[in-house]
Amino acid sequence: METKTPEPPRDCPLCPRLVAYRAANASAHPDWFNGPAPSFGPSDARLLVAGLAPGRTGANRTGRPFTGDHAGVLLYATLKAQGFARGAYDPNGADDLELIDCMITNAVRCAPPGNKPEGSEEANCRPFLAARIAALPRLKVIVTLGDVSRRNVLKALGLRASAGVPGHGSEFAAGPYVVLNSYHCSRLNTNTGRLTPQMFEAVFGRARGLLDG
Ligand code: SF4
Repeated sequence: METKTPEPPRDCPLCPRLVAYRAANASAHPDWFNGPAPSFGPSDARLLVAGLAPGRTGANRTGRPFTGDHAGVLLYATLKAQGFARGAYDPNGADDLELIDCMITNAVRCAPPGNKPEGSEEANCRPFLAARIAALPRLKVIVTLGDVSRRNVLKALGLRASAGVPGHGSEFAAGPYVVLNSYHCSRLNTNTGRLTPQMFEAVFGRARGLLDG
């Protein structure tokens, strides 16, 4: 796999469809971030949370993962409850929120139309995910949010997607790491009750237990 830096360049050209979407959003909303959303959190984190891709009005707008869309409200509240974050969360990122021993990234760094990246876009961005993981020297636990994230993390580690069990609450070893899989904290999943706050907190409670045990 081609070596990449952990963070793509601001003008990464690798996915033409997503580059065009960035440009369209930049034209309509020049005050938005409109670029590959950088990972957020300390570089000595032991926990990595891997999402799917930035939401158009979330990280694509604010430039911080899970900031500005519905999914971030539950994610940051849950991280705070388990001691992985502190400070206030503001949906525009105008806050003092800080991650503790935790980094958040996305399998695909640019916002895809309809929140659905294509397979080629996942493949294009995967070397950045692999480099992100490799650049965390203390990393022990990876929480994957949804099946696209789970598959991409496994492939980024050089494993087959079938090496990990799908479904909420599944747990498996992947190389030197423990992967905990969760349903994505999207509005669709939380509004339908597919994912409850209790189910989500249980995953991060398990991460806390693995790190502190
Ligand atoms: S999704 Fe990743 S690989 Fe594709 S253009 Fe954005 S940063 Fe580059």
